[in-house]
Amino acid sequence: MSFLGADPAEAEEFLARHPEVEAIDIVLMDPNGIGRGKVIRRHELPSLYRDGRHLPSSILGLDVTGEDVEETGLVWQVGDADQRAWPVPGTLVPMPWTDPPRAQVLLTLHGLDGSPSPHDPRAALARQQAALAARGLHPRAAFELEFYLLDPQPGPDGRPRPAACLLDGRRGGQIQAYGLEEADGMQPLFGAIYRAAAAQGLPLETLISEYAPGQFELTLHYRDDILRAADDLVMLKRLVRAVARRHGVEACFMAKPLAGQAGSGMHLHVSLADREGHNVFTETPDGPAGAIAPTLRHAIGGLLETLPDSMLLLAPHANSWRRFVARSYAPVTACWGVNTRDAALRVPAGPAKARRVEHRVAGVDANPYLVGTAILAGILHGLDTRADPGPPTQPGEEAPSCEPLPPDWRSAMAEADASQFLTAALGEPLHRSFLAIKRAELARWESTVTDLDYALYRHTV
Ligand code: GLU
Ligand code: MG
Repeated sequence: MSFLGADPAEAEEFLARHPEVEAIDIVLMDPNGIGRGKVIRRHELPSLYRDGRHLPSSILGLDVTGEDVEETGLVWQVGDADQRAWPVPGTLVPMPWTDPPRAQVLLTLHGLDGSPSPHDPRAALARQQAALAARGLHPRAAFELEFYLLDPQPGPDGRPRPAACLLDGRRGGQIQAYGLEEADGMQPLFGAIYRAAAAQGLPLETLISEYAPGQFELTLHYRDDILRAADDLVMLKRLVRAVARRHGVEACFMAKPLAGQAGSGMHLHVSLADREGHNVFTETPDGPAGAIAPTLRHAIGGLLETLPDSMLLLAPHANSWRRFVARSYAPVTACWGVNTRDAALRVPAGPAKARRVEHRVAGVDANPYLVGTAILAGILHGLDTRADPGPPTQPGEEAPSCEPLPPDWRSAMAEADASQFLTAALGEPLHRSFLAIKRAELARWESTVTDLDYALYRHTV
């Protein structure tokens, strides 16, 4: 075993097992959850595991367009200095859809002294995981991935539209929730997705045709290690996008790609295991039927209290905010409930030993490492303060204590900026650089004259 858990034997064994692999994508997830890196040749892989690989810190200071945000302090203030990236153990996998064959490995960024970069979102999640572990608690977690399959060519109105069925070119255009015909029509693509996921060791489970034409959901089996659950999600997203592209279809992970249709969420299911592996969210056996365990109540209370502070991580883009529409299965208030999808935080029905909270607020456009960071920090806050979530919302109504979510991106930015909770959760450097990136994106958004400006005003006012 060498530095930081990167074992050169992992690289050697992989290369021996995969003589066909010519090159490897080395992938660092930036604060927006966009994978960036290099494509190295096969002979360069062992040295990545032995010595790490220099990458500039400015990768963690880019906006969504890939442009430097100087205000992060990660660009010219530090001379765009190199830091050292190390592979994440266990994430070196083939990309079976590539020809000539390539592989990929996830990276984390470190200082030249080996300390984790305080700007790396994965390191922030690792810190929250460690804070819970120090209390003898271990999160089990799984993300859900909702997304659209779009036609790469615009529709007759010049706008994006759902992809035609791959089997026969049919265009349904109907919602067809849980539609098995719709899932079957995309079988050539989903077959390839499941084969690629198996080759990558991703615990991919259920496929659902979701609540909109062209919208699908894939679920992942939970992991005992939430870092691994987040790695699964980013790997699955890369895989789906790349395999869809090779089938002539565009996988779209915007939170709200089509006005008037459902948005796409990235729900996170979390429970906490104690040192013996028992789920501490399970009701005490002597409690009344339907009781909620005190730890789960406190966790939910903490998540609700910290939701306004965390919204910018859960809904990080201008488009994210279009998803929060009442009766669209996306939350509009900070409330919790048992077995009701009206709630931002849902306690799903099911066996007591699998009791968990489903956090339904994040859009699929969010960075899963930051989503996990906000949620673990919220749970910790709730446990430490013995937070009380108040009464659960009942199906069809909102509990009196329900607070509205922040109304928009700008308000969420202000809440995040002023939040001591979020500063502590992310660590001061990442809090500063993430907000600098978001402010730069907001400035771009607000200074752009859009097509809608022209459509509404050009010939009218
Ligand atoms: N698409 C909904 C969202 O944006 C969620 C639908 C569901 O409950 O699975 O969160
Ligand atoms: Mg869903």
